[in-house]
Amino acid sequence: MAAWPEAVHPHQASWEGLANFPIVWRHSSRARHISLRLDPQLRGVVVTLPTGASRQMGHAFLASRMDWVTGALAKLPAPALESGAVMVGGQRFALSDATEAALATTTLDRANQTLFLKGASAHKPRRLRDFLRAEAGRTFPALLAACAQGGHKNHGLPLLRPSSLALRDPTSRWGSCTRQGRLMLSWRLIMAPPDVRDYVMAHELAHLHHFNHSAAFWHCCGQLHEAPWSSPEGARSSTRAHTLKEAEAWLRQNGLALHAMV
Ligand SMILES: [Zn+2]
Repeated sequence: MAAWPEAVHPHQASWEGLANFPIVWRHSSRARHISLRLDPQLRGVVVTLPTGASRQMGHAFLASRMDWVTGALAKLPAPALESGAVMVGGQRFALSDATEAALATTTLDRANQTLFLKGASAHKPRRLRDFLRAEAGRTFPALLAACAQGGHKNHGLPLLRPSSLALRDPTSRWGSCTRQGRLMLSWRLIMAPPDVRDYVMAHELAHLHHFNHSAAFWHCCGQLHEAPWSSPEGARSSTRAHTLKEAEAWLRQNGLALHAMV
């Protein structure tokens, strides 16, 4: 057996010959088993080693899951700036240069399904990310309010209002709610289909009424989700394409893609 190549960086090794993707090694005294997760931004894997587990054990673990890893990495969509398109509200927007189009700022042209990006090429990845995050900031508060309003008007729910809303970029969740009513949403939901994005909003808002996952919580979540809201995509039809369970399944299947695109 050939010797394992030395790490090119203390925390990041290219596993030459066997893996053509980056590997990040983490050591954790709290971990009980060797674990592995995809990092869609890195387009590689993070291997967590518990105390006492060697790098060789990590390599063996990774080797046993190589087919899954390479398959999952191959399924990730190309970065938006490589493919020339980004999803906004589940719709494909072609990326174009704002300067060439004589636009002063980054502009989302819904009629022509084009996002005109401002800035030099080298800055475009950050510009795109900043734009999507800002777009989430512009639209999410009104969507949450409309969701709460719909549940209040159509189903007699209390008018649910978070005490604060934070937009973040967590790796393994789409939203959260604290007992104090502080909501967190991933700004990446701006890319997801409206039904899926709205499901996460309905879910977190429903936690303001039921701080659990009881049957009553799911009933409330369903009532909030089905309420017809007006949104940036235009008037909502009364029937949702995604049910709650389908929205969750969509996130399980496509969540990594939302992290890989930008
Ligand atoms: Zn929940």
